[in-house]
Amino acid sequence: MNSVIYMDNNATTRVDPEVLQEMMPYLSDYYGNPSSMHTFGGQVGGKIRKARQQVAALLGCEPDEIIFTSCGTESNNAAILGTLSIVPHKRTVITTRVEHPAVLSPCRSLEQHGYRIVELSVDKQGVLDLAELESAITEDTAIVSVMYANNETGVIFPIEKIASMCKAKGVTFHTDAVQAAGKIPLNLKLSNIDMLSLSGHKLHAPKGIGVLYVRRGTRLSPYLLGGHQENNRRGGTENVPGIIALGKACEIAMRYLDDENTRVRALRDKLEAQILATCTDCMVNGDADNRLPNTLNISFEYIEGESILMMMDRFGICASSGSACTSGSLEPSHVLRAMGVPFTAAHGSIRFSLSRYNTEQEVDYVAEKLPPIINRLRELSPFAAKK
Ligand SMILES: *Cc1c(COP(=O)(O)O)cnc(C)c1O
Repeated sequence: MNSVIYMDNNATTRVDPEVLQEMMPYLSDYYGNPSSMHTFGGQVGGKIRKARQQVAALLGCEPDEIIFTSCGTESNNAAILGTLSIVPHKRTVITTRVEHPAVLSPCRSLEQHGYRIVELSVDKQGVLDLAELESAITEDTAIVSVMYANNETGVIFPIEKIASMCKAKGVTFHTDAVQAAGKIPLNLKLSNIDMLSLSGHKLHAPKGIGVLYVRRGTRLSPYLLGGHQENNRRGGTENVPGIIALGKACEIAMRYLDDENTRVRALRDKLEAQILATCTDCMVNGDADNRLPNTLNISFEYIEGESILMMMDRFGICASSGSACTSGSLEPSHVLRAMGVPFTAAHGSIRFSLSRYNTEQEVDYVAEKLPPIINRLRELSPFAAKK
């Protein structure tokens, strides 16, 4: 276990031991159904209420604005599809080319069903053109969905500005904040965001629990029909241990927001500086000034990201190339392609994503092991040789 150097926290995170401890009794002794009439089940309901408050505190919203879901993907689907069925005459969805597949796939499926999907592009830094977004919004626009922070590059979009723009135009705005929650401060009370998604396993809770925040007064048609759970907004018996775990994880995330922005940011910056100083022909992808504090996406020209990963794996170093969801295909990342990263560089991109569990020794270790790997692969590369 200790031999693993885990720098793939945008893919998933370690469950915090305090979170695990909090949820364990609800996997063993307290197995009641919160909807039951008896005290045994009822006591579980109290814990769910507490978890809802803990999540609301992290987001700066009201507990009744929180809907527990099964994952970030479900939250995104529910937000988009649940809004469309409220305004069936509006047939346009606006999003971006760099969204996670959990937004892009439902949008592309909608396109098959006659919807018009506007996918906004980004510039070389991964930055959106707000004027383009504003002019894309029309009478026909049902929803705008733009991610808070990009999972591959860490680039943070000006979500508050976009939310205000949408509000002024009377269009529902949703943001996929799966990568932002727990890493940067959020305060929904002071914002014009209508809906926001987050996922437990990206912030040190287990897999299989997510949240959809829905601002009071925002109309949304329930997309999972069943029992009366979640105030009739999402049927299905609650994932009690997951909900309790997520509540605890949000409480802890609040305590660590400062650490993320200082210590974790410094570790990421150190890793970046060391790699740039020791490796040739590499470049950082994404707007360095508007980036999550934990994420470093870096391209090594003329070599394959997968080969770098395999060689780092021998040293127990975990990172990712492109996006975990698209790996297995030979296509370079859709995010880097949208940014116009040259083909040779997009193929050799690596994402390091840190967490509060990383240490300076780990950063030093990676910075020491990486340059010989890059040099070795370049020696073997037919593309580098032609240079
Ligand atoms: C991981 C991720 C998701 C999907 O969340 P799941 O809980 O794994 O379904 C959605 N959006 C972004 C930006 C992500 O990083």
